[in-house]
Amino acid sequence: MPERPAKSRRARSEESLSYPLFTEPSPIRSILPEAANSPAPVAPPKTVPSAVPPPLSSQDIVQIFEQEYRNLRPRAPMPPFRIKFRRFVSLNTTIRLREEMLHVSLSDILEGAPESVLRAIAHILIAKIYKKPIDPGHNNRYKRFQYSEPVARRTEQTRSVRGAKRILGPEGHYYHLDKVFDELNERFFQNLLGRPTLTWSEHHARRLLGHYDAAHNTIVVSKIFDRPSSPRYAIEYLLYHEMLHLKHPVSVRGTRRCVHSPAFRADEKRFPQLKEALAFLKRL
Ligand SMILES: [Zn+2]
Repeated sequence: MPERPAKSRRARSEESLSYPLFTEPSPIRSILPEAANSPAPVAPPKTVPSAVPPPLSSQDIVQIFEQEYRNLRPRAPMPPFRIKFRRFVSLNTTIRLREEMLHVSLSDILEGAPESVLRAIAHILIAKIYKKPIDPGHNNRYKRFQYSEPVARRTEQTRSVRGAKRILGPEGHYYHLDKVFDELNERFFQNLLGRPTLTWSEHHARRLLGHYDAAHNTIVVSKIFDRPSSPRYAIEYLLYHEMLHLKHPVSVRGTRRCVHSPAFRADEKRFPQLKEALAFLKRL
């Protein structure tokens, strides 16, 4: 039976899903390794070196949207979907209802995103346009993806093309980033690293704690560390991690970007208070 929408239940003609990342002028991502938030991951089988599933075809993606539509509107007629990847300047996704057809534009940053993420996005967009409640599980999956390091990096790279970012500077109330950097450079890198621009973030970001922006050769540190309750080893570890990104540039193997190589991880373990620092970050 076709659904006859009451006036109040009529779908909105357009919805967009802008990543909240963009409300912050300087997105800085969490440097917590994925393992810190979840139980230790099972080591991938050695026999399958690149267990990356092949990217979803556009047909797969349409199917995902149709399934999520069906879940949200079990009896309503299925509208045709037109789904396109667009080169957005920012990570941004929109849905429009035009002449009974749902037009979806996905940021090309989402190309190659895992199926669960696309499913979450499909659910959220369709729920929004038909004013249905958003499932918290899908919302969490979307958020985790949004804040994951590779996504934050690609987003940052895309953004940096658009020009200068605001710089607050290295001098905080309690810590001076340049001084912490110089001290770590001597302790761990024989003073071999050139000092990039160091700056505190504009906001007290909790999820995104530190970030190295290669395009601007800038390390941004969340202002949340610039307070007396924040131990020195925490900011040292944070900066040390970002300095390792200077030492170990992102390598590309095939289609896979390796951000934290084994050599990176081995170096990271040289930080004496690694355990305490990770525990502190987790409590933030
Ligand atoms: Zn990192």
